[in-house]
Amino acid sequence: MTYRVTLIPGDGTGPELVQAARCVLDATGVPIEWEIQEAGEAVLAREGTPLPERVLESIRRNGVALKGPITTPVGTGFRSVNVTLRQSLNLYANLRPARTIPGVRTRYEQVDLVIVRENMEDLYAGIEHEVIPGMAAESIKIITRPATERIVHFAFQYARRNGRRKVTAVHKANIMKLTDGLFLRVAQEVASQYPDIAFEERIVDNMCMQLVQKPELYDVLVLPNLYGDIISDLASGLVGGLGVAPGANIGEKWAVFEPVHGSAPKYAGQNKVNPTATILSGALMLRHLGETQAADRIEAAVRQVISEGRQVTYDLKADPNDPTAVGTQEMAQAIADRLR
Ligand code: NAD
Repeated sequence: MTYRVTLIPGDGTGPELVQAARCVLDATGVPIEWEIQEAGEAVLAREGTPLPERVLESIRRNGVALKGPITTPVGTGFRSVNVTLRQSLNLYANLRPARTIPGVRTRYEQVDLVIVRENMEDLYAGIEHEVIPGMAAESIKIITRPATERIVHFAFQYARRNGRRKVTAVHKANIMKLTDGLFLRVAQEVASQYPDIAFEERIVDNMCMQLVQKPELYDVLVLPNLYGDIISDLASGLVGGLGVAPGANIGEKWAVFEPVHGSAPKYAGQNKVNPTATILSGALMLRHLGETQAADRIEAAVRQVISEGRQVTYDLKADPNDPTAVGTQEMAQAIADRLR
């Protein structure tokens, strides 16, 4: 069987990263037919929208997409393509594993976290208005029972399927008693249906401190949208930064796999940035498709190349100016070579 996968190159460094990931995925031998769909600022100029309907239709048709990062203008301009894509396809679960990779310099060893972030509501519902222009503005935080039940079930089912032992719900229910209070209450109710998985709860500020002090005590975390956004970047920092952090946006029917990092526009076209996060996002996609063995092989090859430390990009060298650092495509090729 050949899988059809929508490939969104994105912009900035996105196209070169996606090409690198494609080279590695193709080297696994899993038959994939890539359907390339452009989106982002250049598309806006040509087609009047940065996210044309044809992109969404392609993902709906194929079920899965691998996506490069897309630039979002700050303050003004079009709404984030990334947020619109997640909202339009109801990709309610944002999954971000953060696992120590030997050879990546970090302050921690043995971090193995999975961040499950609710992707649809909270302050990201985008309902904001000015109360007094230039003086006061309001943003509405939405937490609902169905969305919370869905994301907490997702976290427990992920834990069960992947041999994880504990789920921690993160909240600020001591202050936001109605919104975060509802999230916490629903999480406790759902947790009682999974007696085989341990459950605990943490207030978000305490969670940040605990993760910095003893990240190895935590396993799967489930969070509302905003805390999930912040804590997943914190978790990336624990394992070596954005260059190695993969991600997935998963819904009932469709899923989009993409690195946690952005388009790093200052390095665009330089064959310089680290392809690991995009390659590992591709491995998550293969796992989602049931190609577990191929996903395991990619993860092992990535770990091998990084632990050897020779064919890696500048950010993985002790000195970022190390002239022996290789480019994006060369690192991807080194990983692909281990798969053949
Ligand atoms: P960024 O992630 O692009 O860059 C932050 C820092 O990390 C920079 O120093 C960058 O050089 C470095 N970096 C990022 N990826 C790297 C890699 N693969 N290898 C080595 N170094 C890497 O974040 P930013 O500068 O805040 O955002 C740039 C643009 O990306 C913005 O327009 C933002 O909206 C967008 N963005 C898109 C997504 C997405 O498409 N899902 C996610 C985050 C940000």
